[in-house]
Amino acid sequence: MNLREEIVALDKRHVWHPYTPMDRYIDEVDPLVIDRAAGSRIFDVDGRGYLDANSSWWVASLGHAHPRLVARLAQQAARLAHVSLAGITHEGAARLSEELVAVAPPGLTKVFYSDDGSTAVEVAIKLALQYWQNKGQPQRRRFVALDGAFHGETIGATSLGGVEVFRRPFAGVLLECVHVPPPGDDANESYARAFTALERVITEGHREIAAVVLEPILQGAGGMRSYDPEYLRRARALCTQHDVLLVVDEVFTGYGRTGPMWACDLAGIVPDLLCLAKGFSGGMFPMAATLATRTIFDAFLGDPTRAFYYGHSYCGNPLGAAVAREVLAIYRDESILAKAEIKAKRIASAFHALAEIPGVTRPRSVGMTGAIDLAVGDYLGRTGWRVYEEARKRGAYLRPLGDIIYVAPPLNIPDADLDELLTIVRESVIAAIG
Ligand SMILES: *Cc1c(COP(=O)(O)O)cnc(C)c1O
Repeated sequence: MNLREEIVALDKRHVWHPYTPMDRYIDEVDPLVIDRAAGSRIFDVDGRGYLDANSSWWVASLGHAHPRLVARLAQQAARLAHVSLAGITHEGAARLSEELVAVAPPGLTKVFYSDDGSTAVEVAIKLALQYWQNKGQPQRRRFVALDGAFHGETIGATSLGGVEVFRRPFAGVLLECVHVPPPGDDANESYARAFTALERVITEGHREIAAVVLEPILQGAGGMRSYDPEYLRRARALCTQHDVLLVVDEVFTGYGRTGPMWACDLAGIVPDLLCLAKGFSGGMFPMAATLATRTIFDAFLGDPTRAFYYGHSYCGNPLGAAVAREVLAIYRDESILAKAEIKAKRIASAFHALAEIPGVTRPRSVGMTGAIDLAVGDYLGRTGWRVYEEARKRGAYLRPLGDIIYVAPPLNIPDADLDELLTIVRESVIAAIG
């Protein structure tokens, strides 16, 4: 048995993989066994490199092993790896908060730390519920979210999710959430119809609604669907009008994935609560935050029973804080957003050109993402996985979303790597469909 076979054998004996039908995995899948990563590539134990088309589940926005992040993490680990944030503090958490508020949409001045996207959303859910409790409106217990939404894995976040297969096993124990149709990205003004549905739910039920929760502009895990910024602007105005909180989940879209620092900026809106994770710590360390306005924060003051009794072990962890500060510094020093703008155009034109291939539909692109649907696909996503296999042969890791093929590479992927990736996508789609 060589090293690769040994690892796969151990893995198949014990590892329960996320989002994976395990019987099929054990019987049919010959997994990549990754040993190291650098820049836009991951390398397997045999030294073979693969372009990382999805930034390793959307987190490695600055690619892998950025020398500044590696150095900063090592330096911080030697000094202070962990300390609680319950009533004591450290320089990293304090400075990171200031730096984050400086780049956040204006008015979001309070930072609550947690571990990952799901907990950032969970914090927002609990803050919204307790905010209304503290304001003397405890009947506001319901949430509103979009069909096809994805907000994470905790029971709270699953309640907001609008992908039926992920919700079904937990029916009956989820929080109360009304799902409304998402604005489409296909027809002109289709946002108007979707907005009417949202407007009806809010106008009729606002006294029981705690918050509207949205992935701004781009619904990621639900299928890379984008919508018109006008929908977000109107949703903001509607929430303000009816005194309903607006929570924006920027876990995927934040840190320049859609172009500007926040997808909210595309609409020029400021939410009451903003969730961020993924790009936040550049794939080096699990770290997340929920940003809140002064108004929300103030509702937790006064009597101690009004305080927010919540906090994870690693809240504001010094390693994560150090890395997150370095990520922000790299964004500034390396003009990451400005340079990504040019790369985003290459993705857009390459994906739109894929529409010429028979069997490819709905080419689309927002910022550093591009996606197509495979019209020939089936519900198990087998065609998507054929594209995955073809891409793997050609040196790219291109995990599909069912029969949706997409890329969300590191924002700083070198142009030559990006061109190679886009060529592999094209060749792999043709090979898999043909
Ligand atoms: C990935 C994702 C989450 C969940 O983040 P985890 O870090 O996987 O817990 C939440 N919201 C959105 C929009 C996401 O894309």
